[in-house]
Amino acid sequence: MRYGVISDIHSNLEALEAVLSALAREGVNLLLCCGDIVGYAADPAACVELVRRKVNAGVGGNHDWAAAGKLDMDWFNPQARLAVAWTVTRLSEDQKKFLGSLPLTWRDENVTLVHGSLDQPEEFPYIFDLSEAQASLKLQETLVGFMGHTHLPGFFTAQEASGSYEPAQGIYRLKAGVKVLVNVGSVGQPRDRDPRAAYCLYDSDEKTIEIRRVAYPFERTQEKIRAAGLPGVLADRLAAGY
Ligand code: ZN
Repeated sequence: MRYGVISDIHSNLEALEAVLSALAREGVNLLLCCGDIVGYAADPAACVELVRRKVNAGVGGNHDWAAAGKLDMDWFNPQARLAVAWTVTRLSEDQKKFLGSLPLTWRDENVTLVHGSLDQPEEFPYIFDLSEAQASLKLQETLVGFMGHTHLPGFFTAQEASGSYEPAQGIYRLKAGVKVLVNVGSVGQPRDRDPRAAYCLYDSDEKTIEIRRVAYPFERTQEKIRAAGLPGVLADRLAAGY
């Protein structure tokens, strides 16, 4: 079984299209999403519709739940709050209902999905380091878990008292009995100084997980963000990936 996993699209249609066409060439059996379909960029409705057509299952992120009116705006910093408020005006009732219907966790026999952490997923905690990953890994019932939220791709593993965290590079090979929590990075607003859109491939037969990157025309996304009157930094950051 080949899984494709994406996260943190953030209304960036150009990045989403680039990732979907890359994934179409990879021949995945199931496409999953770890949330934050909307927020920040200027194409929330188009991204929601594309996700509904192409993604097989997924969880809601803080931006999705806020756009659906299920998370208080106080949760967000000023720029994100402006983007959420603008996003709400661009979505149909049906699209908001869809975002609000996304669960906080999802799993099948091989993998678990969450936006932030399995420990209190409704609080959307950020996992930046191994100690923060422990609480989620403890609750993870499958060998493989996927998340997003920080927009920083990486692999977290734990074995009893020891553990490791590695920024995503190359292919990760599953080890028997060692759970891994994978941050799949961000499609629409990478923050690891690599402006290319990120996506993840998991082959459950080969037991390999890989984060891949694909370039997209971010200048077009920047133009749309500026034309919409959204905060300029939301456009600027796409060129450098921060
Ligand atoms: Zn996000």
